[in-house]
Amino acid sequence: MSRFALFVVVFLGLGAAFGVSAAGPLESLRSLAHEQGLVAVQGADGGWRRVRRCGVEGAEMPPGLAQEMRRSRLKRDHSPVEIPVVLHLISNSKGEGAVSDAVIAQQMRVLQAAYEPHNFFFTLQSVNRVVDDIWFQGERENVMRAALAVDPSRHLNIYSFDLGEVALGYTFMPWDYPEDDYRHGVTVFYGTFPGGEGLPYNEGDTLVHEVGHYLGLMHTFQRGCKAPGDFIPDTPYEKRASYGCPVGRDTCPHRPGEDPIHNYMNYSEDGCMDHFTPQQARAMHFVVRRFRPSLLD
Ligand SMILES: [Zn+2]
Repeated sequence: MSRFALFVVVFLGLGAAFGVSAAGPLESLRSLAHEQGLVAVQGADGGWRRVRRCGVEGAEMPPGLAQEMRRSRLKRDHSPVEIPVVLHLISNSKGEGAVSDAVIAQQMRVLQAAYEPHNFFFTLQSVNRVVDDIWFQGERENVMRAALAVDPSRHLNIYSFDLGEVALGYTFMPWDYPEDDYRHGVTVFYGTFPGGEGLPYNEGDTLVHEVGHYLGLMHTFQRGCKAPGDFIPDTPYEKRASYGCPVGRDTCPHRPGEDPIHNYMNYSEDGCMDHFTPQQARAMHFVVRRFRPSLLD
């Protein structure tokens, strides 16, 4: 495991090095964070902290998988995939993280709206409210997942708590473990739920993005301008992640198309992200059949 453990260690190190109490106007804080490959996000105390947009960086597809995916006969007429969701809301004894049912319903609508055009349907099966000061801080997450996970081969387990300076969200890739492994599932900072405190990443798109990884998608900026990029033929190449909403940006001018800054698998602000491409959808359906077949039972 490691890849993930390593990220966490690295990010914690970064967070510690930067400290949380950034001074100066918000704009300069944001650009400084972006230069460092981070985003500035508001925390519960109203202060701003610099964190990774996503903990899934450096993930790779298993050898041969991209080729297998290209050759697959799966076209756009994929059959619907229905995914029951179990949401584990971890809060602390002060009540932080205890998101309301109304917000949860809104988050599910955001998730559904992003995936429905591509024939993925998410149903909230249960909300598991857990008060635990240790887990809320993201400590002993493997112990927590082992204790809480509901049949990961047939459910999407979502965990929310305060990820501190680690990232806004992360997940394991479908091929990292067998489909029934308790470690599968998506973790997001509770402040990214719609209307949450995680400005400007508080419209629910962090969950949309992480579920994209859960279903096998890479970041659109994977490998920069170098082939095969993110392995998806209809997402233009881009040299690096986009922050904010840099309309018209083109960091790989020798490649066709402007940067896919509106794609959910980029790092733009929530208000800037609005779609997956048809080929990303095709890839997700392929990945479900190949790695998460029990979701189809
Ligand atoms: Zn990501």
